[in-house]
Amino acid sequence: QDYRCDDFVVNDTKLGLVQKVREHLQNLENSAFTADRHRKRKLLENSSLNSKLLKINGSTAALCATGLRNLGNTCFMNAILQSLSNIQQFCCYFKELPAVELRNGKTAGRRTYHTRSQGDNSVSLVEEFRKTLCALWQGSQTAFSPESLFYVVWKIMPNFRGYQQQDAHEFMRYLLDHLHLELQGDFNGVSRSVILQENSGLSTGSRCCINGASTVVTAIFGGILQNEVNCLICGTESRKFDPFLDLSLDIPSQFRNKRSKNQENGPMCTLRDCLRSFTDLEELDETELYMCHKCKKKQKSTKKFWIQKLPKVLCLHLKRFHWTAFLRHKVDTYVEFPLRGLDMKCYLLEPENSGPESCLYDLAAVVVHHGSGVGSGHYTAYATHEGRWFHFNDSTVTLTDEETVVKAKAYILFYVDRQAKSGSDKL
Ligand SMILES: [Zn+2]
Repeated sequence: QDYRCDDFVVNDTKLGLVQKVREHLQNLENSAFTADRHRKRKLLENSSLNSKLLKINGSTAALCATGLRNLGNTCFMNAILQSLSNIQQFCCYFKELPAVELRNGKTAGRRTYHTRSQGDNSVSLVEEFRKTLCALWQGSQTAFSPESLFYVVWKIMPNFRGYQQQDAHEFMRYLLDHLHLELQGDFNGVSRSVILQENSGLSTGSRCCINGASTVVTAIFGGILQNEVNCLICGTESRKFDPFLDLSLDIPSQFRNKRSKNQENGPMCTLRDCLRSFTDLEELDETELYMCHKCKKKQKSTKKFWIQKLPKVLCLHLKRFHWTAFLRHKVDTYVEFPLRGLDMKCYLLEPENSGPESCLYDLAAVVVHHGSGVGSGHYTAYATHEGRWFHFNDSTVTLTDEETVVKAKAYILFYVDRQAKSGSDKL
């Protein structure tokens, strides 16, 4: 199946407001040379809107799922938003936040809310993210246009403003980091991390803090790696704890030229192979000598990652894009992944401290990149909602099945801890 990113600014208002906002933001950047060229091309193409629009929300629209309109190569954002909207614990936290009108202090007893950047320029990523999540799964058959969320995204993350295709993983990291930062802002004098603890118990046992206090972002996605380095000369071991929100896994080199799922030439690459290559003992190159404090000089060493604490939602990013000389090229290998029961116990530093069911993860969503290059192609996402699988392709949402999902060439996988999932019903 071939997908293209081919819906342009179809959801603009009659006055062309989305286009104007983007143009305005883009004009603020003086280095808009290439973007300008892109925009002209897009406008030309736009003027001949094709009949593809008619298929949006046609007979293929599935149940209560709502699509997200493409605002000009924004499928990389749509795929991430649809994935996050199907991570129940994460999504529910935002949906339960009071709306911004309620936060203005009109309603007594409600917690008021201040963003980091209030004033004339006030924008709240949290608020727009909340509104977008609320719009999805409400039964609307019309695709939702996320322009006010993207307006904030474009404002605070200028690198995503252009019309060229962008990296969905990079966007997800920026989005989570900015949500985390904004959530750390004060909540009527009370730190949000305290609110979080009161409301959901999500932070209990969460020792993971990226840049200070814990938020729903770190409580859900945060895990801790132990990075163990051994000097090969004197044997001294040094340990360092690194918090993470996702793990970026290499597709092992022996599999990189395998493009198809058929097994004719050797074994198929599995997610286990990628996880193993990530956690295996690695001898560092001569170019990465390690400063040994005992030898007091740079020495050859080995490095090993252990997972010290697993997150509630394990986000695995397969490194499909690599730089070779001047070009970023894509590794198109099919990587087999389980829909249920990904067991992470063998990567844990202290597996004996975890219960029998505690390291099992079930897939909630997967982002797929279609096409050959990072600057082109198209992103879609598969996600499961109330026991069914859906395929989110911008405005179009279709019901699909497990057999289709397992065939996808995954780019980002979202696995939910089985115990955390059953525990979330109590929230
Ligand atoms: Zn040493």
